Amino acid sequence: MSSFSRFAAIAVAASLLSLLSAGPSRAQDAIPGVPRELLEDIATGSRILADLGVVDAFGHVSARHPTNPHHFLMARSIAPAQVTANDIMEFDENGEPVDARNRAVFLERFIHAEIYKARPDVSAVVHTHSPGVVPFSVSHTPLKPLYHNAAFLGTGAPVWDIGKEFGATNMLVSNNVIGKSLAATLGDKSVVLMRGHGDVAVGPSVKAAVFRAYYTDVYAKLQAQAIGLGRDVTYLSAEEAAKADAVNMVIMDRAWALWKQRAQSAK
Ligand code: MN
Repeated sequence: MSSFSRFAAIAVAASLLSLLSAGPSRAQDAIPGVPRELLEDIATGSRILADLGVVDAFGHVSARHPTNPHHFLMARSIAPAQVTANDIMEFDENGEPVDARNRAVFLERFIHAEIYKARPDVSAVVHTHSPGVVPFSVSHTPLKPLYHNAAFLGTGAPVWDIGKEFGATNMLVSNNVIGKSLAATLGDKSVVLMRGHGDVAVGPSVKAAVFRAYYTDVYAKLQAQAIGLGRDVTYLSAEEAAKADAVNMVIMDRAWALWKQRAQSAK
């Protein structure tokens, strides 16, 4: 081998090496067994809810790990509007990060951990401080569906009061015991209200949970307006709610496509 070709070989090896050493930052962003598309959906869902005004600086979207169902995926501690696929981390069944790498994690990750544990049918969880919902969390008026897009409320939206079990707290779901209590009140429903705090919406996909979180917020405002009109309000019957919710599950792709486009142009 001539000295030139030896030099060339060394140069190629060196550039390969630098590629490999640049690689880990990309490789570390990927989570084993998780398609990039799911990470993108979690990030998109976070930005959609911010764009729609359901979340501000707080709130989070998560998804169950598709190949390790005991684990789940959610962003590092960051405002929902700022979440990208690279911010998504893996958490174990107790809500602890699998590979924290010094990233800050959400204090209320136990909401997600305990719901995934209690609800095998749930693949996505959204926690918000929805401005429409908070008044219902402190009133004795239950959320009930009065229009078709909120039909998933047809089975009821229970209110969880942290004070009943835990006394005077900082109101946050800051450990597994509190998370388990919240998950127990959610039961088999799609939405649980948290007294003086916000709500949690769950679903079989990130799209469904985001759809429900948004329409719970919209719906709560409509119900408050309807009640404000001062006459008896006609709500959807249980049968109407069930039929309308089946349609929602089919049409939500259209809503997602629109919201995604808006959230992307809002960046
Ligand atoms: Mn919260």
